[in-house]
Amino acid sequence: MDAKIVLLPGDGIGPEIVTQGRRVLETVAERFGHSFEMSEHPIGGNAIDDFGDPLPQATVDACRDSAAILLGAVGGPKWDDPTAKTRPEAGLLKIRQELGLFANLRPIQTWDELVDASPLRRDIVAGTDILFFRELTGGIYFGDSGRRPHDSGEAAYNEMVYSTGEVERVVRLAAQAAQKRKGKLTSVDKANVLEASRLWRQVAERVVTEEFPDIEYEVVLVDAMAMHLISRPKDFDVVVTGNMFGDILTDEASMLPGSLGLLPSASLGSDGPGLYEPIHGSAPDIAGQNLANPLATILAVAMLLRHSLNLNDEAAAVEEVVSATLKAGHRTRDIASGGTSVSTTEMGDLVVSQLQA
Ligand code: NAD
Repeated sequence: MDAKIVLLPGDGIGPEIVTQGRRVLETVAERFGHSFEMSEHPIGGNAIDDFGDPLPQATVDACRDSAAILLGAVGGPKWDDPTAKTRPEAGLLKIRQELGLFANLRPIQTWDELVDASPLRRDIVAGTDILFFRELTGGIYFGDSGRRPHDSGEAAYNEMVYSTGEVERVVRLAAQAAQKRKGKLTSVDKANVLEASRLWRQVAERVVTEEFPDIEYEVVLVDAMAMHLISRPKDFDVVVTGNMFGDILTDEASMLPGSLGLLPSASLGSDGPGLYEPIHGSAPDIAGQNLANPLATILAVAMLLRHSLNLNDEAAAVEEVVSATLKAGHRTRDIASGGTSVSTTEMGDLVVSQLQA
């Protein structure tokens, strides 16, 4: 396969972890006989410094022309001035919008070797393997908002809007993913209170009944889901939900494995490139010190191979190597619990050398 892949290292530890992601892509290409043409482009704070814009047009053009995008992270104290004209995060929001990335995928998997780092008991959390689909470009974060006069001073409002098409497309993607996993889909809403959720539920049920009769389907209210996630996380396979509920539930779920440095995510549209990134930020406190854990980025590479390039064996090979590396006891400082640790580049070396073998 020939594929163009855009790398957006970003700020803080971004360049360090994306460098390791790049090495993994190069190794996969070599071992499996592919050709990946990779190019790096600015986004975030460094792009503000150099171009006065957190997302220069040349970066957008390169992304549009690619098969997939690997992002590090953006932001840092240097660009935190609240009076600044623009912020690094604006680049991230804009690239998602420009590419129509309406579905955010977040796998939540526990690693047996690290399960004791979870704030939950081993018997509850071990074996958890959930794939979240959060709708990313609709709902209350994008509805009309404003303020109006009120007897007590002011009232503020945010409108939650979902259309049939917006629900259909994300539920369809989630159901397709469920078919390739354990065959179970959970849709989360608040249909006992919200009209937008009642439409969500109606459309989701129709899509699943008509197009995916083979999958097991259930509906859970968002407040109940918040409880189930910490009392019986192993019961879920694929979970699909709207923007705000997904925002909150995926952050809650990201605590289950006990380590931020191991969680990747993907943002996908109906066609065009997908965007892959670790869920953590730019970690300015450890930037430039060769301390960052590159594994979330390397697992984002595995997602990129699977979802944008359809290279399932290659994705599985990367995931197996990460698992074997952890099993062998190698840890970066964030997951070493005070024990011996390896650097960012050493962790990259370990993954690359096993992938070559
Ligand atoms: P953060 O995720 O960057 O860091 C939180 C803590 O986790 C820090 O102690 C950090 O050192 C540690 N950490 C994070 N990733 C790590 C890794 N790979 N290896 C080892 N340790 C790691 O969150 P924050 O400190 O709240 O935010 C820092 C900056 O990142 C802010 O400017 C924020 O806006 C930005 N941010 C960006 C994204 C993104 O680009 N998608 C996401 C979240 C935060």
